[in-house]
Amino acid sequence: MAPLRSFVDVPPESHFPLENLPYGVFRSISGGDPRPGVAIGDYVLDLSAVAEAGLFDGPLLKNSSCFSQTSLNKFLEMGRSAWEEARLTLQKLLSADEPTLRDDEKLREKCLFPVQSKVKLLLPMVIGDYTDFFSSMHHAKNCGTIFRGPENPIPQNWFHLPIAYHGRASSVVISGTDITRPRGQAYPAANSPPYFGPSKKLDFELEMAAIVGPGNELGHPINVNNAVDHIFGLVLMNDWSARDIQAWEYVPLGPFLGKSFGTSISPWIVTLDALAPFACEAPKQEPEPLPYLSEARHVNYDIPLEVYIKPAGLEHQFLVTKSNFNHLYWTITQQLAHHTVNGCNLRPGDLLGTGTISGPNQESFGCLLELTWNGQKQLSVGDSSRNFLEDGDEVTFTACCKGDGYNVGFGICTGKVLPLSS
Ligand code: MN
Repeated sequence: MAPLRSFVDVPPESHFPLENLPYGVFRSISGGDPRPGVAIGDYVLDLSAVAEAGLFDGPLLKNSSCFSQTSLNKFLEMGRSAWEEARLTLQKLLSADEPTLRDDEKLREKCLFPVQSKVKLLLPMVIGDYTDFFSSMHHAKNCGTIFRGPENPIPQNWFHLPIAYHGRASSVVISGTDITRPRGQAYPAANSPPYFGPSKKLDFELEMAAIVGPGNELGHPINVNNAVDHIFGLVLMNDWSARDIQAWEYVPLGPFLGKSFGTSISPWIVTLDALAPFACEAPKQEPEPLPYLSEARHVNYDIPLEVYIKPAGLEHQFLVTKSNFNHLYWTITQQLAHHTVNGCNLRPGDLLGTGTISGPNQESFGCLLELTWNGQKQLSVGDSSRNFLEDGDEVTFTACCKGDGYNVGFGICTGKVLPLSS
């Protein structure tokens, strides 16, 4: 199939052609409330303006107020039929041979804004709860080897359930937000009280996160084979981690202050519909999961991931690792089914992090903990090197699926480390 053509100019390398149409929330720099939009090339299409002009004429969206909101939560709650209706309408509206918007200059001025110069991108949804999983086997194995040694590095439970902890939703921030180095306690040196001060082992974690669509009622688990209808799409996520704080605090209840000081997500939610051409078989699971986790369609997506670090004062950023979403052992649908199997209710806009996505080789590890083996070796970053992140380091994730003549990309998720002010 030939790539789709839009009347909006879409540069060939753009992450956001007509095949993608990811959703976000933006504010015009000239004022007004935050409102939902989709990215097309270097532009954002204002969905509140499209709705106001009466251009959503399908049965589910015609009289809906879902796009006159300051977040996507209401649209997320409406579910897959509404998402499909919106995608069909928007692909048609923006296509090269559809005159409605193409030939109406006034309407185009109301609906299309250049992203770089005219808008500020915001968190796309109100996040009630954020859960972070631990679903890459390579990451689990490396962490286990580093902290517990090479004998049985992966705990027995890991092969039977997608392990997770409850994260902190209040400190999830949009890409571009600076992250201040956290302070906290770490392991005592021999015969002394614990260290207290700025973290000396600040790290990034290369993750993606699923955005929950319709939730479930308390007490009513979601079947793993229906879980896909409860997931709207994916974003890039940097689950910043203070390894020294985490290592001291995590026994016996798990991560806390080593994680909750900040989590960055990319502004555009790429829908599962846009990702459908990149679906691929997920790794075979051995032992076979329990029936409630055994899914008829066990798929991941082929999403190549890259991480760059730009040290303070430099113009250039340096590639430090490359991984792929398809390394996940537990799929996002298994994660969602497991999350609700006890009756726990998920809500629209909830964020489910995959956990650090590491591949099998040194070049594909998803965090500095693994890349430097807990600081025991140096990672080259241009002319300099790192054990862990330094003040002024800017960490950028990007991801782009390559289709036949088009991309379905995620843009970037970036954040700069600021020094702790006293
Ligand atoms: Mn994490």
